[in-house]
Amino acid sequence: MFEIAVIGAGVAGLTCARRLQQAGKRVVLLDKSRGLGGRLATRRLAGTHADHGVCYLQPKGDLFREWIEELVDIGILRVWSEGIHRLSADGILQPPTKFAPCYAAPMGATSIAKYLGKDLEIIGDKLITAIDPTDNGNGWRLSSSDPQWSLTAEQVVVATPPAQALAIVGETILQRRGYANDTDCFQQMSSVNFTRSIVAISVYPATQQNVAAAIPWQGIQCIDHPILAWIGLDSSKQIEPTQPVLVVQSSATFAEEHFDAPDLAVIGQKLLDVVAPLAPGLNAPALVQVHRWGYAFARNPLPDRFLTAQTPAPLYFCGDCCGGNRVESAYLSGVALANRILNLT
Ligand SMILES: Cc1cc2nc3c(=O)[nH]c(=O)nc-3n(C[C@H](O)[C@H](O)[C@H](O)COP(=O)(O)OP(=O)(O)OC[C@H]3O[C@@H](n4cnc5c(N)ncnc54)[C@H](O)[C@@H]3O)c2cc1C
Repeated sequence: MFEIAVIGAGVAGLTCARRLQQAGKRVVLLDKSRGLGGRLATRRLAGTHADHGVCYLQPKGDLFREWIEELVDIGILRVWSEGIHRLSADGILQPPTKFAPCYAAPMGATSIAKYLGKDLEIIGDKLITAIDPTDNGNGWRLSSSDPQWSLTAEQVVVATPPAQALAIVGETILQRRGYANDTDCFQQMSSVNFTRSIVAISVYPATQQNVAAAIPWQGIQCIDHPILAWIGLDSSKQIEPTQPVLVVQSSATFAEEHFDAPDLAVIGQKLLDVVAPLAPGLNAPALVQVHRWGYAFARNPLPDRFLTAQTPAPLYFCGDCCGGNRVESAYLSGVALANRILNLT
């Protein structure tokens, strides 16, 4: 039996698991994906890579700033841009008006996750479908889609978006065990809504690298735009990019409308058509891939950094929606929950 099982290897789960493990706990981290990072995601394609989830990090508080500095010191992060351009709803591009360092990982955002997970016991490719109290009630039995597999732990941390967390605990805890009265925790989780996002990643021929080098922006925030939320010249995060890579994130409205479209290539092209006037050659990529995020940003984050269920064996929830909807809140949530489990607060 593990002391603590953490479900979800995004920033929140990785941070929480790492701190618990560093304090001497026997921790196991589980994720449905083979790779680490969750929405901190990098895709390898056509000899290069692109961040199709988190675009950049910009610290607001001291604790997160310290962590960013740690990642800069070991060469995982560096300042990528000092200011983000803005695109208005009617397509007018404006230079940055606010200046503050935006940090990015030249080797891709998942290099952060790999660093966080490097000494952890991790089981990937494991979709957790249910958790049930053990017979003596002193712990939890985790089940997956593989009926031959199960794992027990004294305490469980669920570090996934709330809808995915409720899919794991909902049936077992709420219905079979009659903990439905734990309204404070489970109702808070049910109340959180997430936006969706569709992301197009375009890779351009190496011959266009000179054209890309002349583009005057690295990232563009699209303000109230009906179709776009973000445009990033992702290759500019790399130290010596060999070919241009563009990442275009849709607006939440566009994602709702096209999320289940049968032909994602058509949807990717729609996004690129809107971006094309911003720089020469953007409408002629060598390759386009499209990714859908069912849980992108929490619309209505919860006030607390983590939630505790009223169950006989300890069960906790953490993630970005506890206190915000960015990497910073995911990180702070993981830290706060680890501190609570270790009785440091
Ligand atoms: C397109 C996009 C761009 C973004 N850009 C930025 C940005 O520039 N800056 C910023 O600060 N934030 C950004 N964000 C938000 C940021 O990605 C999130 O706030 C943060 O990464 C969330 O981390 P998390 O650990 O809470 O959750 P997640 O990263 O979602 O991690 C949850 C993990 O749980 C796993 N999981 C889920 N269900 C199960 C299950 N049943 N069994 C096992 N594993 C499971 C998932 O595979 C995932 O790895 C962006 C998000 C998106 C989608």
